[in-house]
Amino acid sequence: MTNLNSILSDINKLSNHDKEIIIDAIEEILMFGSCALDVESDIKEHRFSKGRVCPHCGGHDICRYGKSQGKQRYLCHSCKKTFADFTSSPAYNSKKPLEKWLLYAKCMINGYSVRKSAATI
Ligand SMILES: [Zn+2]
Repeated sequence: MTNLNSILSDINKLSNHDKEIIIDAIEEILMFGSCALDVESDIKEHRFSKGRVCPHCGGHDICRYGKSQGKQRYLCHSCKKTFADFTSSPAYNSKKPLEKWLLYAKCMINGYSVRKSAATI
């Protein structure tokens, strides 16, 4: 049975390079996982800061319209179109989750090349 002490013991046996890889992985899990949730809630809060507004027509007659793939959808009664929290945003059409974009941004800030940043995420 694996426990924390055996994990720590195994980590101590690793090379410094492998320890850095583990630190990066833990950092990614701890920092960017929660950071992505904060960014998502910030985007939602900003989008709906003046009430719910349809990104297609600007209408305010909006209701919840179920969920798709775990994401809340909304229906605009004015134009009859549906939308989600990220519709018409750069994140909407991205196939990569927000966590990956945050990690990519971290790589760019650290001065990695585009190629190395892409390989890292
Ligand atoms: Zn609309």
